[in-house]
Amino acid sequence: MNYLSTRGAGAGERHTFSDILLGGLAKDGGLYLPAAYPRVTADELTRWRALPYADLAFEILSKFCDDIPADDLRALTRKTYTAATYCNVRDDESAAQITPLKTLGVENGAPLALLELSNGPTLAFKDMAMQLIGNLFEYALAKHGQTLNILGATSGDTGSAAEYAMRGKQGISVFMLSPHKKMSAFQTAQMYSLQDPNIFNIAVEGVFDDAQDIVKAVSNDHAFKARYKIGTVNSINWARVVAQVVYYFKGYFAATKSNDERVSFTVPSGNFGNVCAGHIARMMGLPIEKLVVATNENDVLDEFFRTGIYRVRKAAETYHTSSPSMDISKASNFERFVFDLLGRDPARVLQLFRDVEEKGGFDLAASGDFARVKEFGFVSGRSSHDSRLDTIRDVFERYDTMIDTHTADGLKVAREHLQPGIPMIVLETAQPIKFGETIREALLREPERPAAFSGLESLPQRFEVLPADAQRVKDFIVANTGA
Ligand SMILES: *Cc1c(COP(=O)(O)O)cnc(C)c1O
Repeated sequence: MNYLSTRGAGAGERHTFSDILLGGLAKDGGLYLPAAYPRVTADELTRWRALPYADLAFEILSKFCDDIPADDLRALTRKTYTAATYCNVRDDESAAQITPLKTLGVENGAPLALLELSNGPTLAFKDMAMQLIGNLFEYALAKHGQTLNILGATSGDTGSAAEYAMRGKQGISVFMLSPHKKMSAFQTAQMYSLQDPNIFNIAVEGVFDDAQDIVKAVSNDHAFKARYKIGTVNSINWARVVAQVVYYFKGYFAATKSNDERVSFTVPSGNFGNVCAGHIARMMGLPIEKLVVATNENDVLDEFFRTGIYRVRKAAETYHTSSPSMDISKASNFERFVFDLLGRDPARVLQLFRDVEEKGGFDLAASGDFARVKEFGFVSGRSSHDSRLDTIRDVFERYDTMIDTHTADGLKVAREHLQPGIPMIVLETAQPIKFGETIREALLREPERPAAFSGLESLPQRFEVLPADAQRVKDFIVANTGA
């Protein structure tokens, strides 16, 4: 399996899965994709139906990765996808399924269900990929006798998922910047209560953007970056995307009895990482009818799928919403889909994403390309704070099921795209306890709390407060790495 950049540089070079595992962007600023999508045969689909999650993950990853020995890869997926790790479930017996399907009911003739992706250690779907990344990174570093210092900025979900995936891993340290006193008590406690010596929480005196600017400044110091082996685990990482392909297959098998059936998925979206994995599953041949992109008030993606216009937002135009993990100004994985939409023409992708940088966007409405969005199954919709509250209330009353704000955005938009006889699977991307304030507002009661999290906020916390100053962060890294 060879990987290429969406912007075309280095065509003819070979990049294997392991080559791009620890990296981010390609040299030309593009994103990596396989030179061709592997196809799934009817026989494979039949055989995979019965596999436990870890073995399904092995089969799918094997199609994208031919430079890790099969036995090692299988050991890595089996170590990652265990009932003990994905134990924060609604029903005890479903932990073994890793991503249980929770049936809600039938609406407009369409069976409606939630695919639970947030039963892992940090109660958000990012654990699904990040837990595997932790094991893959540790494996790859050990093989080459290397070490890695992961530097990131977070306002919540990504940072905690990265920390829980990397805690205790050989050869890896995590330096995670978060805005001091700006996260919820629950999210703060989730991160800061970690006592592992390889996890460093840095509370920056500023807002999230200050923290992110520091990460950029440190990463742009190429000498420092090389000397201290600085890396990232953001959502453009290819291995993160491919790990997410697995649960589209798992959800399909859980919602159908035979491979003649089709299903639709609705995906609460921000950076387009999650739904990009759905697109890849569909390109591999999984019988997906529609991929419904659900956004919140930050509707960059909904606007594109309705109009063909992609217009990134300025920081001041980005709303702080009650589904904050979807508060994005541009969708960092979107380029992968645009590459396929344009028939894999890297010269045009390069031009369009230059336009994004120079003119703030591009318009495909007039070109024939936009019409092809339908062939790829994509439709979209957006949500608001009020519809979020209404959906949380409605699902609680009608189905006795508490959902988080991001999942509510998904369900709201899913209902606008139901088709009789075609199961609609809404990806549940977080548990309600992470966004408790809005649950209290919607339901006038406390969010459900998985047993393992009782008393989380009163655990001792370990973190370092630093001013919003890149040099101080560098000094801290130097003082705390073995290098
Ligand atoms: C990250 C996140 C999303 C958005 O996922 P993308 O891959 O960025 O589209 C949605 N919901 C929750 C809870 C998240 O943490």
